Amino acid sequence: MPPTDLVPYLTSQRDEIVALLRTLVEHESPSKDKTALDALADRLTGFLHSAGASSVDRIANPDGGDHLHARFTFGHTGPDAPRPALVMAHFDTVWPLGTLATMPFRIEDGRVHGPGTFDMKGGLTLLLTALRTLRDLNLTPPRPVEFLLTSDEEVGSPTSRTLIEDTARQAAYALVPEPPLPGGGLKTARKGVGRYSLKVTGIPAHSGIEPEKGRSALLELAHQIIAIHAIADPSIGTTLTVGRAEGGGAVNVVPAFASAEIDVRVSTLAEAERVDRALHRLTPTLDGTSLTLTGGLNRPPMERTDATASLFERARSAAQTIGLSLTEGSTGGGSDANFTSAIGLPTLDGLGPLGAGAHAVHEHIEVDSLPVRAALIATLIQSL
Ligand SMILES: [Zn+2]
Repeated sequence: MPPTDLVPYLTSQRDEIVALLRTLVEHESPSKDKTALDALADRLTGFLHSAGASSVDRIANPDGGDHLHARFTFGHTGPDAPRPALVMAHFDTVWPLGTLATMPFRIEDGRVHGPGTFDMKGGLTLLLTALRTLRDLNLTPPRPVEFLLTSDEEVGSPTSRTLIEDTARQAAYALVPEPPLPGGGLKTARKGVGRYSLKVTGIPAHSGIEPEKGRSALLELAHQIIAIHAIADPSIGTTLTVGRAEGGGAVNVVPAFASAEIDVRVSTLAEAERVDRALHRLTPTLDGTSLTLTGGLNRPPMERTDATASLFERARSAAQTIGLSLTEGSTGGGSDANFTSAIGLPTLDGLGPLGAGAHAVHEHIEVDSLPVRAALIATLIQSL
């Protein structure tokens, strides 16, 4: 079958694709619920086998849901096998158990609604569909495919990061069907994400009897918040946001304690290092108070390397063979693509179906984009 036929072929399978998506969405899977995640991993193991996986390894995870590592050899085995393609998706969502009661899976006006449809059970459905299609049509990609399904992306990938990086070191390139840019553009650059916590200790005192003996941790924190925001440099993409702060206790006591949580976004590793140094240089303004900073860079920036740029160019040509014109762009949000890209692997993210509302109650995807994007992923695996 010539490649141009993949879109009509998959369009004829739209109902099956939607049914698979429905199964995945109706199995709720919050990042912290090991029982729910492991039960979904059981079902995904079955889907991987029916998509033609040569093997499926389950990576036991005592600190969260298990992860899955499947291999599709496509006949490429032994020491001379080419470096594999890495495709990956996370099967956890930000939605707690029971969300389906108020946000059920439903199709309305050409849109599929439900928790995790856009981020990223839609993308996961595309990967399973693309691999099954290659098998069903007897197509042989030029390299084997390693497929990682991980359970903790939405909480920063604490237990899957090493698995992702180790697999990425062996691979030729990575494809990630996280949500695309509005309109369907791929993501070839993502900001790095840092999380810090600042604790301020002051000196408590009765605010009426001897306020002069106190040192307000809250006042000190107010100075620090202004200093923290001054580290930002939005013109080159560096932002710092104190997204949460608290302190004090009784209203008639000079507060002895205050704290703040800081979100950091950077476009380059150099900026991540500059911000880290600047945060560690913060010093108290008021005598008698002290500061304790913890945290660091959670995801390194995904910089648009030359290797990723040339992978995108080849993807763009391949997409033209099925009538698609691909665009690319950058985003402030992080994903597991940040890890593969930071170790030098050319990475294309944002290959998921079109939609909107990740992490929001209006989360949905466009039904008609499911077959098209599955055809795109199958084409990329077949040609890159
Ligand atoms: Zn995601």
